[in-house]
Amino acid sequence: MSGRPEGQDDEVARGLEFRGDSPSLREHCGVIGIYSMRGEPVAERIVKGLSALQHRGQESWGIAVQGEPILKGMGLMGQGVDVNAKKILNYQSSQGIGHVRYSTKGRTNMENAHPLDIKGEFSIAQNGTIANTEDLEPLVRQDFQLLESNTDTKLAGLRLLQHYRGEKDWTRAFTRLSRELSGSYSFVILTKDGTVLAARDEAGYRPLCLGFDQEEQTHVVASESCALSALHTEFVRDVEPGELVRLDKHGVTITRFADSPRHYHCPFEYTYFAHPSSTIDGHNVYEARRKLGHVLAQKYPFKADVVIPVPDSARPAALGYSEESHIPMEEGLMKDRYRRKGSLRSFIEPTDKSREEIVKEIITIKPVIQGKRVIVVDDSIVRGTSSKNIVSALREAGATKVYMVVTFPPIRHPCYMGIDFPTQGELLASKVDGQDTPISEINKRVAEEIGLDGLGYNDIVGLSQGTGLQESEMCYACVSGVYLGLKKDPVIRTREEMKA
Ligand code: SF4
Repeated sequence: MSGRPEGQDDEVARGLEFRGDSPSLREHCGVIGIYSMRGEPVAERIVKGLSALQHRGQESWGIAVQGEPILKGMGLMGQGVDVNAKKILNYQSSQGIGHVRYSTKGRTNMENAHPLDIKGEFSIAQNGTIANTEDLEPLVRQDFQLLESNTDTKLAGLRLLQHYRGEKDWTRAFTRLSRELSGSYSFVILTKDGTVLAARDEAGYRPLCLGFDQEEQTHVVASESCALSALHTEFVRDVEPGELVRLDKHGVTITRFADSPRHYHCPFEYTYFAHPSSTIDGHNVYEARRKLGHVLAQKYPFKADVVIPVPDSARPAALGYSEESHIPMEEGLMKDRYRRKGSLRSFIEPTDKSREEIVKEIITIKPVIQGKRVIVVDDSIVRGTSSKNIVSALREAGATKVYMVVTFPPIRHPCYMGIDFPTQGELLASKVDGQDTPISEINKRVAEEIGLDGLGYNDIVGLSQGTGLQESEMCYACVSGVYLGLKKDPVIRTREEMKA
């Protein structure tokens, strides 16, 4: 029932793996919506699609199908689905939505797990973060009583209901809502009459795509195309920023609820979060990572004997670096999978203690490293804690020189659009940054902090070359500190305030 596609074990569990600094990052979720034109039950397909999106969130999961209570669980899909398998197999509804969650706003509990019921009118699930909930609250309070703590999705859902009651039309309701929201969202909705809706914000921060299974006559919307592949469903197209997709007995209807003059696609999806098999906005994630490796090899031609990836997301980039530099790539860092199975949750906890635990999961392969000049390829440096530990592990294994190249530029500012970075003061590149310090100088300062012989961060131009995204269609606010894609300046909040 868990339906994980064969051969995807590693990548499906990506958030649980050792990925340098990266386990301290959390991203806001994966979504799916399915409508069978033949009236076939879809619950099992939702579960299968969500399992393929598990790398986008492991905190909780949930599915909503018409005529049944919303089913939710904490932790990974597999554990909860096995317990509920009988129930899920008995669901007869031919339309539904599903979600896997990491919270960037609101507490980690069953109540906040998506999909959320909005007054019995519809269920809603979201990938993204609404940055201006303080503006929504008083508007929602005009019609509804609110608890003290409300997730951004709950507030957006209630506000959408207010607009829908006024407009009696989903496109117009979304038009009104979009004018009030600042932030990122890819929503899926199941209405009480069994219509599935999917909407992507006009900046296009988070991915969303549409597929169709010709044989089964079933439409699917999902965060990433890897979910379509898992369901043997043909990719039709990306949902464009500002579009609303409607799946009902008439098939697919796509309308535009907002103009989209400038896209702000998140390049972090390509370097870190998304599944390598996914193609987002026309660019395949695996190819992007490999090309990023080529770019880094051209920018930073370190003299070395071996290129090694920080497993797993940096593997294609390490391959790319190796191809371009003609330095052989080898696996010098391995995960201890057996330990990992005993402590799944600790892998994603953003505390020093849990990061230390994560580093204990790594095993160096001495013959690959001993007596060699090593280039380590990673996708990001956040706090630097784990990078330091990698360097010391490599030196302990006998590396004579340790260099590092990083596919994402220095992260110096928080993200308010769906990625849960630590607060600015904890970001290593921010700590060493005077103000607008050039990358060459940041490379030197961070290398010193981490104990490297040389460091090469990517820059915005290299990020564009690698991902294939134009600079003018990309967000890089966490690098620049300029939040052009938001409708208003974000309110700086601590992580605790975000979680309250
Ligand atoms: S701020 Fe950074 S992580 Fe957040 S959406 Fe923009 S590029 Fe992505």
